[in-house]
Amino acid sequence: MNVYVDNAATTAVSKTALDAMLPCFQELYGNPSSLHTPGQLAAEKLAAAREVFAKHLNAAQPREIIFTSGGSEADNQALRSAAAIGKRQGKMHIISTAFEHHAILHTLQALQKEGFEVTLLDIPADGVVTAQQVKEAIRPDTCLVTVMFANNEIGTVMPIAEIGKVCHEAGVLFHTDAVQAVGHLPIDVQAMHIDMLSCSAHKFHGPKGVGALYVRRNIPLTNVIHGGAQERGKRAGTENIPGICGAAAALEEICGKMEENTAKLTAMRDKLIEGIMQIPHTVLNGDAKRRLPNNVNVCFEGIEGESMLLWLDAKGIAASSGSACTSGSLDPSHVLLALGRPHEIAHGSLRLSLSDYNTMEEMDYILETLPGVIQYLRDMSPVWDALESGKMPHII
Ligand SMILES: *Cc1c(COP(=O)(O)O)cnc(C)c1O
Repeated sequence: MNVYVDNAATTAVSKTALDAMLPCFQELYGNPSSLHTPGQLAAEKLAAAREVFAKHLNAAQPREIIFTSGGSEADNQALRSAAAIGKRQGKMHIISTAFEHHAILHTLQALQKEGFEVTLLDIPADGVVTAQQVKEAIRPDTCLVTVMFANNEIGTVMPIAEIGKVCHEAGVLFHTDAVQAVGHLPIDVQAMHIDMLSCSAHKFHGPKGVGALYVRRNIPLTNVIHGGAQERGKRAGTENIPGICGAAAALEEICGKMEENTAKLTAMRDKLIEGIMQIPHTVLNGDAKRRLPNNVNVCFEGIEGESMLLWLDAKGIAASSGSACTSGSLDPSHVLLALGRPHEIAHGSLRLSLSDYNTMEEMDYILETLPGVIQYLRDMSPVWDALESGKMPHII
């Protein structure tokens, strides 16, 4: 059986999204900036897609949506824009969290080199950053708070509306990287006091290389890509019409079945968690309930994550140890370290991220396969031998 459970890394493009994209390649291929009819037909498609994003985020106006090349670019532009505003006002302090995506963390590092001061909030043991933490960190010179909506590794969901309220009461801009949340959780940028929000189509069955940045009107954007006057002059480059149409179709489709998906995914997630926690010396990462309906993340003691992933792959199960961005490096996940897991435990992590395309039968297959793989790897491991013989104390 082949089971794909790495949907936090990327998802399959849905049939609806593909069908929306195909005509844009050879029929509706005009440039939306052109005045002729083919150009204007493309411009209409672009406007319709913008409306779809505005509707599902509850943006006040479609012009508050800027299309980008993905979540990373949206994150970069949001942070650069808020930093530029802060600098003009003499406010050079930014608040974020220790377990953000690297698109945020590395942009913050670049800003630090330019003179900004960054406070990274600690991650509580349950993986949920609180509004109180944000409130206590805000200073008179804070120009931006950026806290992710849901963590891409451990799936925990932050109290975004509360955090947004705290920011607005203090008069500080609030950005959220909502790449894992859009299409999966209800989002209302107005009710949640969100000034800027990043999302990415390939995390909700849209194509790769397309994302959007929501920016509340009257917040001036700084260009990351300079050139033509596309996207209100704030993001140059001929619009990726096939990608944008696919993204909008995917968003419309997934938001239309959010309740149904949530029920189905929660049942599959909880079945996996219950089954996996039967394996001895296993710990769940992140709160059991305040997490995305599609995320399971555990650490197995005495296991080396890479071998586990290769063995699972050999059995047809495509999973991950955490972020696709840290895979390939030997460093353990910064998210699990921020959560307080020791290095040797963080190395034995497994993330199973589901989509509505998965089935209960696949969950059964995972639960039949995984314990054997863990047992096999532990039997081969000298570290496990030391743990079991009492030479080394068990941590979990
Ligand atoms: C995937 C992801 C990104 C990056 O999005 P891309 O479209 O791949 O650039 C950013 N933030 C989070 C939380 C993500 O999961």
